Order: sequence, then C-alpha cells, then structure tokens
Amino acid sequence: MTQEMIYLDNAATTPMSPLVVEAMLPYMTTHFGNPSAAYGLGLENRLAIEHARKMVAGIFNTSPDTIYFTSGGTESNNTAIKCAVRELGCKHIISSPLEHHATLHTIEYLEKKGEVRVSYVLLHDDGHVNLNSLEELLASSEEKTLVSLMHANNEIGNVLDIQRAGELCRKYGAYFHSDTVQTVGHYPISLKEIPVDFITASGHKFHGPKGSGILYVNKKLKMEPFIHGGSQERGMRAGTENLYGIIGFAAALDMATKRYEEDKKNISQLKVYMKRQLMGISVGATFNGDCSEDSLYTVLSVGFPKSDRSQNLLLDLNVKGICASGGSACSSGAGGSHVMRAIDINHNDQTTVRFSFSRYTMIRDIDVAVDAVKEILNEC
Ligand code: PLP
Repeated sequence: MTQEMIYLDNAATTPMSPLVVEAMLPYMTTHFGNPSAAYGLGLENRLAIEHARKMVAGIFNTSPDTIYFTSGGTESNNTAIKCAVRELGCKHIISSPLEHHATLHTIEYLEKKGEVRVSYVLLHDDGHVNLNSLEELLASSEEKTLVSLMHANNEIGNVLDIQRAGELCRKYGAYFHSDTVQTVGHYPISLKEIPVDFITASGHKFHGPKGSGILYVNKKLKMEPFIHGGSQERGMRAGTENLYGIIGFAAALDMATKRYEEDKKNISQLKVYMKRQLMGISVGATFNGDCSEDSLYTVLSVGFPKSDRSQNLLLDLNVKGICASGGSACSSGAGGSHVMRAIDINHNDQTTVRFSFSRYTMIRDIDVAVDAVKEILNEC
C-alpha cells in the first residue's frame, strides 16, 4: 500500500486546480498555433493572450499595458530591479535582509558590480520592517533610489503595510518595487490605490502552472526591452509566449479572486487550529515572526527546542509522508535560513519548520501532522 501524503508546503508551491488544467489543455493540443502567426490558428491564440492580460489587469485594477507575462517571480523580480537601476538610473537601493533570494541576490550582484549602493532597513523584533528606519533612509538618500520590500514574507508570513511603504517612497521621490509573490492570489491588490512601480507574481503559488508569472510596471515609467528578440509582450520580453502558462495563470488568478473570502476564512481557521494544537506540545513550540491574524494566513513558522529528536524533524516528517519545509524551498540548502538569521532566531536553540496551507488542506491533515510531530518528539 502506498503511504498517504500530507502536503503542508503550499508556500513553496501548490497543486494545480483541475479547472486550471482544463482551461490550459486545449492550448496544449488543438489550439497550438504560434500567437505571432498571421493565420487563424495563431491569431486566435494572440486574442486568448490579450484576453488573459485584460482579465489579470482587471483583477489588479490597472490597464492591460502595465502587465507583462513572464516565467514567474524570480524573473519578474530580477527584471524590475535591473530595469530600475539600468533604465531608470537608480544608484541606491533600500531593501530588507528578509527578502527572497530572487531579490537579495539580484541586489547583491548589482552592488558587487559597483552599479548601486545598498542600505537595509532596520527590523522590529517580530521581523516587521521598521517604517521609521525606511523613512530615515529615504530622507537621507541623495541619489535616485529604488525601494524593494516584499509584501509578505514567504518564511515567517509577516505582511508589510504596502500602502504606507509606497506613500513614503512617493513622498521622497523613490521608485518602489514590491515582491508580491506570496500575496497575489491570496489577497485583493488594487493598483489604483497602492503607490507602487513594480509588483511581481507567480502562478504556481495559487494553484496555477509553474513557469508562469507577471511583472507589473507602472505606466509612467519608460522602459527598454527586458529580453531582446521578437515583438512579443509589446517588444519588451521577446520569445514565443508560454501560451498555456499564460492561460493557466489568468484562470488560476480569476478563480482565486472569486474564492478569496471563502478561502481566506477556511485557511485562516486551519492556521489558528494548528497553532493551538502545537501549543499543547509539552516540549514547547514557539512561533516565528508576527503570527497574529494580520499575518499571511497560508504560513505558520514554528520553532521546536533543539534536541536529538527534533534536529531531524523535517526528515522524520518526510518518512511519515508529511511535506513541510525548513524555511523557503529555495533556502533549504547549506547555511540555514537567512530570514531566521536576520530576525535573530538562534539556530542552535531551535529547529524551524514552516507549515503552509491551501484551499486543499483539510483539518485532518493538520491532525495527522501534529500527531506525527508529537510521535517524533516522543510525546506519545
Ligand atoms: N518571491 C517569493 C516571496 C517567493 O516565495 C518565491 C518562490 O518561492 C519567489 C519570489 C520566486 O518565484 P518563482 O518560483 O516563480 O521563481
């Protein structure tokens, strides 16, 4: 008998919705024409892409010409930051040490090349960005500045006050990029209200396909092509479009938007339930970051006291068929989590496990996972 799998790593990726697969399938089979072709089979697909763009733009309350389809969050973050430096002339980047590596490594690369200087905002004890520190850095910046701050942290789930951060950027004339990969598809985002220049999204974080995403670029910005070649994406990002990825991205976002209230309510309850169950563990469990109801409802980052039993917790959970992660999927390699280091969580004292949920997570999944944790920690 194959072992049952309990999937609690939805911040890393989500299973695709069957309805999204259904929407994509025709574009893999019968509707395979190149969207740049001059005959019907291709032209229909060009229309399908533009329809998808219009739908996505509508959801963000913006116009279609601000939306570029990309391969996902990493590409979009790289593009936004490099364009802000190389096309808009930013010489100073203000960011935080908690950003995803798609942002941090891009910034570090530009700094190493001598193209920018970088400042990092101070953090509060719970990992929230200190907005006074952001304002001080902005006020003292003499160069053209880009602020890059993620909307929600993928490891600890802290949510930035993106409106306030954007207003500060406007006040001091800085450009503002926000990595919204963990919030698009999970929260309504209206770009009419939020003063932001670039946001990014990734389809596989909300039951869409991997390798699909968007970059939003504020209409006021004058940009050069991100990728040179053909005239796709209005000449900005050349290359034959990931047609079924684009269709899947739009379908998944549309579904997530329609289900927002219901999904948020149900998933939030699961998070609260798991937190409560883990609080009953006698070895003690702590919760990293701000895990109030204002935090990302899909993520619960838990610290267990370091012991012989807890140090292989993730592997032991895996043996029991439970998928969770130590931090972000991308920073699970050597050196541990840069986010935990930045918020000063002592690695020698705790084993960190990030549990993350989706609309497919059930209360029973949580019960099985909590029982497994207890068993591994020798509590039953
Ligand atoms: N930014 C954040 C906050 C993420 O969580 C991720 C994915 O883990 C990315 C960027 C990268 O997105 P993608 O996997 O689409 O490249």
